[in-house]
Amino acid sequence: MKIKRIVLKDGRDKSLRRRHPWIFSGAVKNIEGKPELGDTVEIVSRKGEFLGVGSYSPKSQITARIWSFEQESIDNAFFQKRIKQAIQFRTALGLMNDGEACRLVASEADSLPGVIVDRYGNYLVIQLLSAGADVWKQTICDCLQEIVSCAGIYERSDVDVRSKEGLEKRTGLIAGDEPPELIEINENGLRYLIDVREGHKTGFYLDQRDNRYALRSIVADKTVLNCFSYTGGFGVAAAKAGAAMVTNVDASGAALELAQRNMQLNDIPESSYENVEADVFKLLRKYRDMNRKFDIIVLDPPKFIESKGQLNRASRGYKDIAMLGFKLLNPGGMLLNFSCSGLMPVDLFQKITADAALDARVNGKIIKRLSQAPDHPTLLSFPESYYLKGFMVKAD
Ligand code: SAH
Repeated sequence: MKIKRIVLKDGRDKSLRRRHPWIFSGAVKNIEGKPELGDTVEIVSRKGEFLGVGSYSPKSQITARIWSFEQESIDNAFFQKRIKQAIQFRTALGLMNDGEACRLVASEADSLPGVIVDRYGNYLVIQLLSAGADVWKQTICDCLQEIVSCAGIYERSDVDVRSKEGLEKRTGLIAGDEPPELIEINENGLRYLIDVREGHKTGFYLDQRDNRYALRSIVADKTVLNCFSYTGGFGVAAAKAGAAMVTNVDASGAALELAQRNMQLNDIPESSYENVEADVFKLLRKYRDMNRKFDIIVLDPPKFIESKGQLNRASRGYKDIAMLGFKLLNPGGMLLNFSCSGLMPVDLFQKITADAALDARVNGKIIKRLSQAPDHPTLLSFPESYYLKGFMVKAD
């Protein structure tokens, strides 16, 4: 049988030699051995030099993703090794204690493109984004069960990018017991309920863990406006750290219902918070017109940019809310301004934040740069894995 391999065009091997794990369709000269969706293929240069071994995605613009830059077979032992390595790292970070939650496997950043695994206490939630990841689903689950003790593994492969790979959306129990309707987790001593079936992503924004923690040191006796609150991640952190009043704002009633339950679970008195179901863009204007002010404002909007063409429009959106945020701050107040769009460069986001402060006539100072938590690492050879950026800005 002819070996399944992808031969690259002349000169198109550079990014691979720099260990970037994606092969775009434009770099492919020809494909040999008739590989099928998700099959393991060898990648070679025009001259036939070995470059890596990866998975084939015939329907995607990313024709292949590298599993390994070494000449090794992709099998149970390979996944065992990679998953073990990823979990050892989370253990070293101190994130594997009972009842806690973290990202166990972060796709390319853990050298397993397309594979995301989150742990919520006793349950694992898996999300498979590429054809290669999808065909190894059973192996990945077997390895996880051998390496991590868990009651069950639930699948949340219901993301749009799967259609680009020619894959259907899929959710449901894969192994072990059905998770409860809500899983309670402990994050730095705070209690959160997670809905792994219906929640965003796999249920919770684990990447904001350290930033929720950072917020705790500045909120005592302050009024806090938590925009795009989801299930109250930042809101619970602020209220528990002694904020005088927390206002959670989200467009999703279901997210706010869970925010309410999270507040109650942490014994936060009803008098010290409110949940407002509204469009943040409109509500910020309303508060401006009412001359309502806050000491601390968190802006953590959803991903505004799905493709490069959306950058300008998204930039205007980011600037709009940041400017309104600055205007609503009391003197000496603090704005936490985030972008989780991978396609928004950090220097541009800083410039947008600066322009917003200028328009709001605020003298802003960055007192802390914020990023994704370390269980969502940035692979140096894959800068795309850096996506969450934020600034804690003091406004005078
Ligand atoms: N800060 C949260 C995560 C925010 S995710 C945490 O730490 O858990 C983004 C949230 O923005 C989602 O809950 C979504 O429902 C909400 N959202 C999206 N567009 C919105 C809008 N225009 N107005 C208000 N909320 C919006």
